[in-house]
Amino acid sequence: MPADSAKPERLARQHMPEQDAKERGRNFDEVALGFTAELAVAEASRCLQCKRPKCVEGCPVGIDIPGFLALVRERKLVEAAALVRDRNSLPAICGRVCPQETQCEGVCVLGGKAGRDLHKVADLSRAHGVARFPTATAARRGLAARAQSQPVAVGRVERFVGDYALAHQPLGVATPDGPRIAVVGSGPAGLTAAGDLARLGYRVEVFEALHGAGGVLRYGIPNFRLPKTVLDAEIDYVRSLGAQVRPNAVIGRLFTLPSLLESGYDAAFIGTGAGAPHFMGIPGENYNGVYSANEFLTRANLMQAYRVGEVDTPLWVGERVVVVGGGNVAMDSARVALRMGAREVSIVYRRSPTEMPARAEEVEHAKQEGIRFEFLTCPTRIMSDGDFWVGGIECQRMELGEPDESGRCRPVPCAGSEFTISADTVIIAIGTSANPLIQRTTPGLAVDKRGYIVADPETGRTNLPRIYAGGDIVTGSATVIEAMGAGCRAAATIHEELSKQPRRRTRAK
Ligand code: FAD
Repeated sequence: MPADSAKPERLARQHMPEQDAKERGRNFDEVALGFTAELAVAEASRCLQCKRPKCVEGCPVGIDIPGFLALVRERKLVEAAALVRDRNSLPAICGRVCPQETQCEGVCVLGGKAGRDLHKVADLSRAHGVARFPTATAARRGLAARAQSQPVAVGRVERFVGDYALAHQPLGVATPDGPRIAVVGSGPAGLTAAGDLARLGYRVEVFEALHGAGGVLRYGIPNFRLPKTVLDAEIDYVRSLGAQVRPNAVIGRLFTLPSLLESGYDAAFIGTGAGAPHFMGIPGENYNGVYSANEFLTRANLMQAYRVGEVDTPLWVGERVVVVGGGNVAMDSARVALRMGAREVSIVYRRSPTEMPARAEEVEHAKQEGIRFEFLTCPTRIMSDGDFWVGGIECQRMELGEPDESGRCRPVPCAGSEFTISADTVIIAIGTSANPLIQRTTPGLAVDKRGYIVADPETGRTNLPRIYAGGDIVTGSATVIEAMGAGCRAAATIHEELSKQPRRRTRAK
């Protein structure tokens, strides 16, 4: 039956083809293969076109989701891409990495509450091999209800539209001539602010400390989730709007923020992320074979250590790897270690599957690839092999207590439950904090007690005139789309404020 004549709510959510789990565990090619045009049209036709679409409220950058789905349904792909890009300069990226299940798709009425719960249970069941449906009949009923009630796969259609735009739409060469804006950091917050401001006619320069642009999208998220070709193409799009990207430019060393403003920039946006890794503070963290996830992933991704034999970056990975943590960073580290040749990879997480912050899809993929999970487990010390290399990791079982300030149940140690996991490599992925360089070299800039920049969440304004901030450097580690939302709101405020002012005279560079 053609998609157009089908009743939208009767179609089941379309499955996205994937690389075989066994094969992909040994290569860095993309895991999820994307929708074909037919699948994208069928999925888009499931949208009920709600009069008051909750999905738009659930999207931190406010994409007109029903609008672009309707255009895809009508196969007007150029128009669909233009509508998405109107609010989102990086749709091919967001379609791949956004946690849609907690954003646009999490509030889709097609999911409904029952559907949303079933969706979550089924995802968790598949990811952890846990039988949550008590009987076969109940399972069948549950799965049938789920097929009917799953939310529209907005992210997958967005990815299709983003890829279509990259493949089919020629890039322009805009040469804005408006006021000058300095953007510090080329992660999703910085790129979004840069793209939005360039589109409005501002001369934007993005200063990036590393040799490659993209922030976590380049140094953190591996190729098998976000191919660098897609990232490069999205950055080329932002460049085509007129923004310039200056790599190898550490602000706070090469220039300071005040000196940039003094030299003629009309405003500055800080999007420097939260890339300083945390350790656990347990004995043995200084043995050889212990990595922070940040270093491990940066070597693998930015410095391309995964191209073994082709590039010189060393990245030693042993046979038995333990990754500590339960977020996307832990999943990425474990899956990279597997692809780098580890025989056994375990993830040790101190809470239960329900509290895991990683995207459901990443947990599911990791599980399919053979990554083992030790839930309710907390490391207490790293043991040596007798020669200052990792020999194992001692852990303790935990149980869940009362919710803590994050709202998640607090893990409580079970006395006498210590046990050892044999390991030669330990990767610590328990979180990051702010790099203090900009804060230290910008006198008077307000920071909170954890070192993050204080900025208004609605406008990005800091306490200093002409300086705005957003993304992880303000909120702490969050998500790509939240960082983009902050970049977008700050760009709008900068535009509003500069539009009110008489044009400043900018010095020639
Ligand atoms: P960043 O992406 O951190 O970019 C900041 C940039 O600023 C960096 O390039 C840095 O080099 C540069 N910089 C820092 N200091 C300076 C300076 N002084 N001068 C010049 N440049 C500077 N989120 C999701 O939504 N989905 C996911 O699947 C997901 N997976 C993740 C996987 C990993 C491994 C990690 C680490 C994070 C993941 N996240 C994910 C979180 C998400 O990537 C971040 O929330 C997001 O990238 C934050 O964007 P940002 O622009 O604020 O900062």
